[in-house]
Amino acid sequence: MIFDDDHEAFRASVREFLDRHVRPNVDTFIAEHGWPREIWTEAGKQGFLGLEVPEEYGGSGAGDYRFNAVLGEELAKVSMAMTSCFGIHYDIVAPYLVDLTTEEQKQRWLPGFCSGEIITGIGMTEPSGGSDLASLRTTAVRDGDDWILDGSKTFITNGASADLVVVAARTSPEKKAKGITLFGVEAGMPGFTRGKPLDKVGQTESDTAELFFEGVRVPAANVIGEVDRGFIAMMERLPQERLGAAVSNIAHAAQILAETLEYVKERRAFGQAVGSFQHNKFLAAELVTRIEVSQAYVDQCVMAHKDGRLTAVDAAKAKWWAAEVQNDVLDACVQLYGGYGYMNEYRVARAWRDARVTKIWAGTNEIMKELIGRDLGL
Ligand SMILES: Cc1cc2nc3c(=O)[nH]c(=O)nc-3n(C[C@H](O)[C@H](O)[C@H](O)COP(=O)(O)OP(=O)(O)OC[C@H]3O[C@@H](n4cnc5c(N)ncnc54)[C@H](O)[C@@H]3O)c2cc1C
Repeated sequence: MIFDDDHEAFRASVREFLDRHVRPNVDTFIAEHGWPREIWTEAGKQGFLGLEVPEEYGGSGAGDYRFNAVLGEELAKVSMAMTSCFGIHYDIVAPYLVDLTTEEQKQRWLPGFCSGEIITGIGMTEPSGGSDLASLRTTAVRDGDDWILDGSKTFITNGASADLVVVAARTSPEKKAKGITLFGVEAGMPGFTRGKPLDKVGQTESDTAELFFEGVRVPAANVIGEVDRGFIAMMERLPQERLGAAVSNIAHAAQILAETLEYVKERRAFGQAVGSFQHNKFLAAELVTRIEVSQAYVDQCVMAHKDGRLTAVDAAKAKWWAAEVQNDVLDACVQLYGGYGYMNEYRVARAWRDARVTKIWAGTNEIMKELIGRDLGL
């Protein structure tokens, strides 16, 4: 109900792209643990990567978060890993590169960002911890006009393939949250290496890797935003990341539930469709209700964000709730498929595995409740 004709026309173009370039090849992407560069450049050609980027730098400057939401929904219906890898780029990194960069950086990075020739990632989490972001240990020490970066990051989406990573590093050790700065670390910088893609429980087709920085010389021209204000920059942008996660969680669960409902109409036991047993009928009714009620809240947050009114607390509510609902719904879907629901060959099984991480990433569900609890004055 929150979308108009322009959004639906955009949705149709996303679907056409997915039908032509992605859906037929998902199994190959899973086997190859990633997306070929051509998918990125094709998405770039279609204008999907630069939704938030002004036209003068190659984007479409849509200026309406509903387009991001439409893209997130459609990608999630096909592959949760695709929402993750592409979402990190067009939805999560984009605001950093658009809002915080200098004119020179915009001209250097944004055209390639929009065309898909520069794939991006963001490195906040470290092996020593992700929830307590203010305690990160990667350091950047000033040396003349440069900064020398030392440390490591882990679980970084697009980590192995990224050409540009926004990296959070400690620049003032004594200042904790007020001593963190963001750097644009580019592929090929001496001392910047990556581990091989991490072996995950789900989302095999997304490339998640460790990043290592050993004396990486990063020019001052690659500082993103103000020195020592990186933590604030991340806090200001995390609500959009969490809303994007909520949007894709509900779209993914809704899609798999729709497919499951078709399955239980066909599959028979004791001479009747398994969906017609009262237990399963009531279960389906509950699942559909949970999805629709959750969708209403997420839509409300999308509209609030479009108008610049989304609070960090409401984004946290949307994120944890949508992740929880998605996991509950998909677990029930696996059950409704019976043994086939446990077979990797079936999409429902992969969806169930792919969804588990959504309670962990973008800030764990516990951290979301911590934010909400604090807002309650507790
Ligand atoms: C597939 C995948 C992709 C990811 N992509 C990225 C990425 O692109 N960039 C990036 O920077 N990070 C990324 N992450 C990292 C993710 O954001 C972190 O895993 C997450 O923030 C949790 O940090 P942690 O794993 O260090 O857990 P920890 O911080 O060690 O937490 C462990 C447990 O303790 C709980 N806990 C911690 N503090 C509290 C508290 N105060 N109260 C109650 N419970 C608490 C947590 O909720 C969790 O259950 C990704 C992770 C995964 C798995």
